[in-house]
Amino acid sequence: MSESRHDITGKHAVVTGGLKGIGLKIAIMLVQHGVRVSAVSRSGPAEGVVQTIEDRQVFVTRCDVTDEEQIVAAFRASREANGPVDILVNNSGIAESAPLMRTSTAMWNSVLATNLTGTFLCTREAAEDMMLAKWGRIVNIASTAGLGGAPYISAYCASKHGVVGFTRAIAAEFDGTGITANVVCPGYTETDMMRRAMDNISKYTGASEDAARAKLAETNPGGRIASVEEVAGGVLDLITSSRNGAAMVIPGGIIV
Ligand code: NDP
Repeated sequence: MSESRHDITGKHAVVTGGLKGIGLKIAIMLVQHGVRVSAVSRSGPAEGVVQTIEDRQVFVTRCDVTDEEQIVAAFRASREANGPVDILVNNSGIAESAPLMRTSTAMWNSVLATNLTGTFLCTREAAEDMMLAKWGRIVNIASTAGLGGAPYISAYCASKHGVVGFTRAIAAEFDGTGITANVVCPGYTETDMMRRAMDNISKYTGASEDAARAKLAETNPGGRIASVEEVAGGVLDLITSSRNGAAMVIPGGIIV
């Protein structure tokens, strides 16, 4: 039996980190579906403006998700431009890698602040609009590293496990209110973040670019690197559905 889809035309979505990589593809895909998008990230302009990105109009403004004041200001500007927030995609994230004994406290705190606390702060900032509207969609971008462990990324893994747990908790809290919260867990995906991981492998092991790419691909459940389109498609799927509390794996390859 096919599930009925929600019409999201005219809704307002805030996408954190929406100016590059996976976030940019999510922002563009949402605009293509008639959504008014606010893309907020550190590289956005301090004074929010409407920009044309890939022939689409997107409101962009600066927001460091580790800074509560900037979050409040960015959401205020986004509301002024596009109205109350109906949809939030917490996509901003950083990946740092190091063996445990070389994981500094500063690195740990920075990864947790961006990936986990940033997700919490932006969700809390957006939730009131959704509660008033009795409708809302929260999609958080975690990782397959939010569901299992891997060497040399203890801070990243911990932060993404935290994002999965946080999402499940708020999904339970909002259950039956019209607001859903779901999490997308991509494997390695074709972006600058993945390319930095490839460079690290080459730097520390001497592997060629192709060998480094193959090494990352083989860690994905489907055996190949995922595309930004696949991840954005998963986000759209969750936003237009009534599912709540799901962890959707984007494996890069065959889903088993
Ligand atoms: P990129 O490095 O290409 O992009 C990271 C994004 O996060 C940028 O838009 C960046 O924007 C934003 N960002 C980083 N720090 C902050 C901050 N303090 N405040 C606001 N925005 C911030 O990576 P991806 O597009 O690949 O990553 C997007 C998400 O997907 C991340 O959460 C990542 O962990 C996750 N992911 C990625 C995978 C991959 O292989 N690529 C696999 C699994 C999950 P700006 O610099 O403008 O602030």
